Amino acid sequence: MESEIKCSICGHTSSNLLDFKCPSCGKPLDIHQHQRFDTHQINHKNYSAWRYAKFFPYIKETEIITLGEGWTPLVKFSSNLYFKLENLNPTGSFKDRGSTTIISALHKQVKNAESYISEDSSGNAGASMAAYATRAGVKAKIYVPENVSGPKLNQIQFYGAEVVKVSGSRTKVAEEAQKPTKEGFYVGHVLHPLFRDGIRSLAYEVAEQLDWQVPERIYLPASAGTLLLGVLSGFNHLVESSIIAGMPKIVACQTSQVSPLYHRFKGSRYAPPQRITSIADALVSTNPPLLDLMVEQLKVAKGDAVMIEEKETLEAFQELAGTGFFVEPSSAVAYAAYKKQLKSKEASKNDRTVLILTGTGLKTALQPH
Ligand SMILES: [Zn+2]
Repeated sequence: MESEIKCSICGHTSSNLLDFKCPSCGKPLDIHQHQRFDTHQINHKNYSAWRYAKFFPYIKETEIITLGEGWTPLVKFSSNLYFKLENLNPTGSFKDRGSTTIISALHKQVKNAESYISEDSSGNAGASMAAYATRAGVKAKIYVPENVSGPKLNQIQFYGAEVVKVSGSRTKVAEEAQKPTKEGFYVGHVLHPLFRDGIRSLAYEVAEQLDWQVPERIYLPASAGTLLLGVLSGFNHLVESSIIAGMPKIVACQTSQVSPLYHRFKGSRYAPPQRITSIADALVSTNPPLLDLMVEQLKVAKGDAVMIEEKETLEAFQELAGTGFFVEPSSAVAYAAYKKQLKSKEASKNDRTVLILTGTGLKTALQPH
């Protein structure tokens, strides 16, 4: 067995790629790799995330649904600081790594059942899933809160997905999306282990692009936890396979409004605001279902967490745009966190550091002034 689906809490194993939570206890599922990473198995002629197809053994290579995601540039910004340009993915965010993986794994089954996929997201994940579904010729229903609008919702609609508006909380939207599991296939990016597993390719790329010399530090924004857990899983796989000497220090970056991970990690209390008004509008998970997993795995990996104020996010966003990197404000949170740790001397300019710039600035509704 090359990989296995296993419950993160009770250890129940599953072979059903459709399971999005543990059938026994309802907790999150994880994909475990039994196969070692081997650089000889990389398809060096493939300039996408699928150069690592051999390490996703549950997907048949003839069934891959791709839009050219991954193998994004790693650009040197200053002497020891690199930017990983995930904003250059086909739909404008790192989420394409997860969507290509889950849609490649499931599209045949969905089609054979003459069914559809459902997802709850009004943001980058919804847009990404809609794009890969339509590429695969699969119908998508994207569940969103009733009052959303803006460029990301437009993108979802242009890809031809059916948008289902739900009134009530974000949890209610997720519940509605999960309901049609009899006739539809729930592929929700927050819970589904196949989506999260697809993010592993990001860690492989950073390592390969640096000649397998891992950076000292990696800064990434954290919300629902798919990016954080996916990147941790990728680097863990490389360490276990003796490809890299040790884990980089992964720094999870959050806004003061949405910082459940930061507070739990630092042992302080978090009280979410009534309404999230931050310009970092991709970071909205005040009560992420994967929080326990995120805290535990970040601790095991000896990572860190940083919290950023609104003013610092805006400054970082403007500073990045002013140097030619037009990314979404949520990505700028990672840059703000890096600068904050330089100032407090928790980070050093001598450390080789990678910032994950998660999404494009072209979807922002912010106006310049
Ligand atoms: Zn379980």
